Amino acid sequence: MNAVGGTSIHYYANSWRFQPWDFKVRSETIRRYGASAIPQGSTVEDWPFSYDDLEPYYDTVEYEIGVSGKAGNLQGKIDPQGNVFEGSRRREYPMPPLRETEFIDMIRGAARKAGFHPHRSPAAINSQPRDGRSPCAYHGYCDTGGCHVKAKNSTAVTTIPAAQKTKNLTIFERAHATRIISDDNGKTTGVQYIKDGQEFFQPAKVVLLASYTYENVRMLLLSKSKAYPNGLANNHGQVGKHYIGHWANREVTALFPFDLNLWYGANAQGVVVNDWADDSFDHSGLGFIGGASLTVNHELHPIAASTVPTFGRVPQWGGEWKKFVNQNAGRWASAYAQVNSLPYENTWLDLDPEVKDKLGDPVCRITSGPKQNEPRASAHAAKKTEEWFRAAGAIDVVHVPNMIGPSLSTHAVGGTRMGTKAESSVVDQWGFTHESPNLGILGGSVLVTHGARNPTLTIQALAWRAAVGGNGQRLPYGLGWFVQSYNGETVVWQFGVSDNVSSSLMVTVPGRGLTMVLLANSDGLNRSFPLAAGDLAASPFGRLFLGTFVR
Ligand SMILES: Cc1cc2nc3c(=O)[nH]c(=O)nc-3n(C[C@H](O)[C@H](O)[C@H](O)COP(=O)(O)OP(=O)(O)OC[C@H]3O[C@@H](n4cnc5c(N)ncnc54)[C@H](O)[C@@H]3O)c2cc1C
Ligand code: SF4
Repeated sequence: MNAVGGTSIHYYANSWRFQPWDFKVRSETIRRYGASAIPQGSTVEDWPFSYDDLEPYYDTVEYEIGVSGKAGNLQGKIDPQGNVFEGSRRREYPMPPLRETEFIDMIRGAARKAGFHPHRSPAAINSQPRDGRSPCAYHGYCDTGGCHVKAKNSTAVTTIPAAQKTKNLTIFERAHATRIISDDNGKTTGVQYIKDGQEFFQPAKVVLLASYTYENVRMLLLSKSKAYPNGLANNHGQVGKHYIGHWANREVTALFPFDLNLWYGANAQGVVVNDWADDSFDHSGLGFIGGASLTVNHELHPIAASTVPTFGRVPQWGGEWKKFVNQNAGRWASAYAQVNSLPYENTWLDLDPEVKDKLGDPVCRITSGPKQNEPRASAHAAKKTEEWFRAAGAIDVVHVPNMIGPSLSTHAVGGTRMGTKAESSVVDQWGFTHESPNLGILGGSVLVTHGARNPTLTIQALAWRAAVGGNGQRLPYGLGWFVQSYNGETVVWQFGVSDNVSSSLMVTVPGRGLTMVLLANSDGLNRSFPLAAGDLAASPFGRLFLGTFVR
């Protein structure tokens, strides 16, 4: 959505962390099932860091925007009320889940009867008053619409106003960026944009591109220069590659002999089963890796309700059909299956050779080919969904398999993926491009794999990590710091530059004060370690030092 706040204005606000497995799909698959289990034609790589590295940022974002939910793995302690398959989290969600209803109780009970581990959806919607914003009033219609009482997070009502209060953020509304400009040395120098029909140039020391997956890729490909004849940061031909349209659909619909009363509530007020997603079950002999999370949402609108399938019981038109709709519009439910989705050689983004936008620039083109892994994972999950609905008392079930691939997904990711090598990725682990180090990219386009869940919390956690960590990694741009989980402690690494030493590094463990000071100058290294023995014995310091100072 083109607005201040972007698509978060009308997203459904399901706010998921990815699973630890999502970050290591390649190595974990090879370790457990052998190299032949990697789907044919997939370009999947491991992320350049693990779930544990991102966990502090997930935690920060959940508290910053306000997420309702129930932890299933609190520092290793498993709670069956939450998602028992999730990675360990340091804190409980800031708010309890959205309210219970009879339907939620019924469908959750049925999942347990089927032997599954159901839990409530995490949602960036207030279940309680929070930060001056109302709790949810449960009248719905905020899926694909905004929330008029600000109970649902959107960056337009949470992070953007907070950033504006610092006076460090100026927003140019209705400005359309057309090119990112770079100099002959490959350094990004600023952004060209149009506002009120006039063209401007905004010079910049650092440019962060955050215009959603398609525009991120298009902007880079359009921004050609002497240093980047094939598009900005594309001298290795990676821009547009490894694009993933999230494989997510409603494959199974069930008819019940009673009213479900789904007319009130928020879409994200659902029940989820994660037993058949990720690597939560043994895939030996199944012919696919990954799987799907299954969500039964709450909200049903009257017009959508009238699209109830006829389950072969009556014709799809005429008087009998009208009578069927009249009786059954409130008696059906479907499950949203979100599949772990991978990048493939046959799927990419580039500039369309024919179609242009109104400024005369080529639009983004999607090229996609058939896959085998995702439809198999989806079909497996569909069987489990039927078991769930049958346990809930469904009298009929229809399957509408999606064998040709995702429609234009609302979860489009990849195209400028993260990685350690310029030969197979566009940005480094901090979101900055390998080729133009003062150009960062935020958004789903940097994702390496797509988890079996909605992507936005991961996108937000990566943005936070880039802002905090990326700056610290780039000393030339000034002071910085980043936060890391270490031995169960939150460690804050701080960097500074002073006159007589080229760099200094202070490591602070909250609650213990300054514990280590490290100085580096042109003559060598002076270290002081006033730490208890073993405190940071296996510290990642050596790696960090190289990454930070020797540039
Ligand atoms: C109907 C729908 C429901 C969804 N529900 C969920 C959900 O429940 N949970 C979930 O996790 N995700 C959901 N998503 C996905 C989610 O909305 C996106 O993952 C998320 O918004 C991506 O954030 P972004 O900042 O990368 O892009 P966006 O939110 O799209 O923001 C991009 C911004 O860039 C601006 N922009 C674009 N081009 C230019 C340009 N040339 N010049 C200047 N500005 C530009 C736009 O105006 C916009 O403000 C949903 C998406 C849709 C469409
Ligand atoms: S159900 Fe109503 S109050 Fe709750 S998030 Fe949606 S629009 Fe806002």
